[in-house]
Amino acid sequence: MQFTVAIDGPAAAGKGTISRAVARDFGFAHLDTGLLYRAVGAKGGNPVTAAKGLTPDDLARDDLRSLEAGEAASQVAAIPEVRAALIAFQRDFARRDGGAVLDGRDIGTVICPLAEVKLFITASAETRARRRWLEAGDGAASFEDVLRQVRDRDARDMARADAPLCAASDAVILDTTEMSITQAVEAARTTIAARLGQPQG
Ligand code: C5P
Repeated sequence: MQFTVAIDGPAAAGKGTISRAVARDFGFAHLDTGLLYRAVGAKGGNPVTAAKGLTPDDLARDDLRSLEAGEAASQVAAIPEVRAALIAFQRDFARRDGGAVLDGRDIGTVICPLAEVKLFITASAETRARRRWLEAGDGAASFEDVLRQVRDRDARDMARADAPLCAASDAVILDTTEMSITQAVEAARTTIAARLGQPQG
């Protein structure tokens, strides 16, 4: 069975947590596409060459989740040749047998415009910055710095010419500002189950 769930949205809206939870519940494979861009940014050198030669080892680096890696990712992600080099891998993953969840910025709009389910997860910039700041722990950047980074990254992701961050016209929008993670996961699960024709209880 091929069944693609496309989950898009800005940084720290809850995409990753929701994606992992629904992939586990429905037995689908999961790809965090942000990791591809983070790995390209972290590799250094020419980003187009890095994207074309990306290996599983590049994706296994343990420094890809840092705020700096996120910044670098957002910069290389604005380069059309970098995005083009990563399309085939993502599309193959999406159509693998057994179902797939992909989370990113352009999954429902560019990578998988025919995905069976499209979700756009969002939340206010302040809420998202607070989540990132709490995640980063003591001694990391100040809340104001994280908020500025979140706003800069949103602006760059939304303003770029190639595959800008935006909701697909047929996406279900989930604003998690006032939701607990349990509520957000439940809302995503209900949407997917309905499309699969599964009874919801
Ligand atoms: O989701 P994450 O924070 O890991 O993504 C890092 C950066 O990679 C984003 O800010 C965005 O610029 C880029 N990205 C993208 N398209 C995707 C996934 C991530 O442009 N599908």
